[in-house]
Amino acid sequence: MKGAADIVESEGMAQRRAMAKAITLLESTRADHRVQADDLLQALMPHTGQCFRLGLSGVPGVGKSTFIETLGLHLIDKGHRVAVLTVDPSSSISGGSILGDKTRMERLSVHEKAFIRPSPSSGTLGGVASMTREAMLVCEAAGYDIVIVETVGVGQSETAVSGMTDLFVLMQLPNAGDDLQAIKRGVMELADMVVINKADLDLAAATRAQAQMVSSLRIMRMHGMHAEDSSAHMQDRIVLLSALKGDGVADFWRSTYRLLKKQRDDGSLQSKRQNQAAQWMQEKIDSGLRHRFEMHPAVKVSYAALKLEVIQGHLPPTVAARRLLEASLS
Ligand code: GDP
Repeated sequence: MKGAADIVESEGMAQRRAMAKAITLLESTRADHRVQADDLLQALMPHTGQCFRLGLSGVPGVGKSTFIETLGLHLIDKGHRVAVLTVDPSSSISGGSILGDKTRMERLSVHEKAFIRPSPSSGTLGGVASMTREAMLVCEAAGYDIVIVETVGVGQSETAVSGMTDLFVLMQLPNAGDDLQAIKRGVMELADMVVINKADLDLAAATRAQAQMVSSLRIMRMHGMHAEDSSAHMQDRIVLLSALKGDGVADFWRSTYRLLKKQRDDGSLQSKRQNQAAQWMQEKIDSGLRHRFEMHPAVKVSYAALKLEVIQGHLPPTVAARRLLEASLS
């Protein structure tokens, strides 16, 4: 397949063009494009999987783009090729992007060994996440051996990103209480590592935040989460950092790499990826079924009226749902 060969075999600008074209195809909602996109993904499949997929999340302003720029350049220095993708549902819902525009990561974005693609600008979170997963495969087939998927610390996008990456990193500010919010929102359970950024501003506060976080994790461990960790390992997973100055970035990478290697060696990475693939398939089935349901002529005709009856209390929701489901099968 020509499109796939262009991605796998070409280099430089020609490869970038082929990648951009492929990703645009993957993001198209036209049915005939979808068939081509699936053929392309299948052709790329044998060239994927040999990379490290890193997820990164944090509230706007925590320093994600600064960190990705510093880390990305560090990794390129070590001989890697780095792709950066984003999952930002806000860009499709409000038309504006929380993750900002192309001025982010100025040095990385012009580097020949980096490929940066902003979030798809249309679709639901599920749709945006799915397009990003597919774009990730394009990057891998093109030989990018590290893919960083970035998202914002709002809503469900973190669950989506942790569901498509090997390791999920949460970025925090060194504010007391910040960690409690993360625990409340359930993000800590997703995080394999926590980065406390801007440690240069107030090292004492950052160190306190680190200690708090370690003790929170210990409590979570008592409840069965991250149960495999010894305390020493937990310390490794909470990293102090200054993305702006670059302090701690090399340490972060060492810890990350160690964790990844451990997961690779003990087989947990493989089973994680297998589960993710199965889950992805299930999500596609669910969204496909929903789409078919919504597009069914009989459903379109009676949906609004039945919903009104439910809202007004004239019809039990279960009855309305059953009628619509039956109509969708006719
Ligand atoms: P994002 O919204 O999470 O991508 O955050 P940015 O990377 O755009 O950073 C937001 C602001 O914080 C920018 O003005 C950065 O220069 C600043 N910043 C990021 N990391 C650090 C850091 O480690 N130390 C300090 N002092 N400022 C930082």
